[in-house]
Amino acid sequence: MKQYILEMEQYAKEKNVPIIEKDSIAYIMKYIKANNVKNILEIGSAIGYSAILMASASKEVKVTTIERDELRYMECLKNVKKCGFDKEVNVVFQDALEVNLKGVAYDLIFIDAAKGQYKKFFEKFKYFLSPTGVIITDNLKFHGYVGKKDTIDSKNLRGIVDKIESYVEFLKNNDEFTTEFIDIGDGLSVSRRKNEN
Ligand code: SAH
Ligand code: MG
Repeated sequence: MKQYILEMEQYAKEKNVPIIEKDSIAYIMKYIKANNVKNILEIGSAIGYSAILMASASKEVKVTTIERDELRYMECLKNVKKCGFDKEVNVVFQDALEVNLKGVAYDLIFIDAAKGQYKKFFEKFKYFLSPTGVIITDNLKFHGYVGKKDTIDSKNLRGIVDKIESYVEFLKNNDEFTTEFIDIGDGLSVSRRKNEN
């Protein structure tokens, strides 16, 4: 398994697949163990790197991961099989905004897909969070661009940074959720429901 993980890191580097940073996945795996997380939903599988590592964090973990890009989906399936996690990781080939989930409550929802749609993902999938569950979002620093908009030439890129910044504001001002921002890797947020007592 370790060898396959290294191969995935290599593949990601060569093909420019934005897999999660090591510190960040280590943080999430630790969280999974410490909080007895069992059901995980991941938005954005890419080649399965984070899904496989999350599944490997503890024996009882089940991951459903959604990917809309066919090539990546195929690569993800292949990697999940190779690593022996076919039973634990369910890969769904669909646009996450079109997926129909029924009657499931996830202990952890990991948002790591199109950065411009974070708020939409959050608003859609919060209904599938267990009462004590958390929504973790990756890339809130967007490779260091967040907070440095004036240094970006590309209008497109500035647009994405704008969206991430407004997602951060959305989390900070949220009535339902409290969010902790964690300055590791490319920036993570951990959102949990506020107590209603
Ligand atoms: N979680 C992965 C990296 C994901 S990269 C890891 O750390 O190993 C982001 C992925 O999200 C890309 O492969 C992209 O195709 C996918 N994606 C973007 N928007 C999506 C959407 N709306 N639905 C499903 N997948 C999406
Ligand atoms: Mg990411």
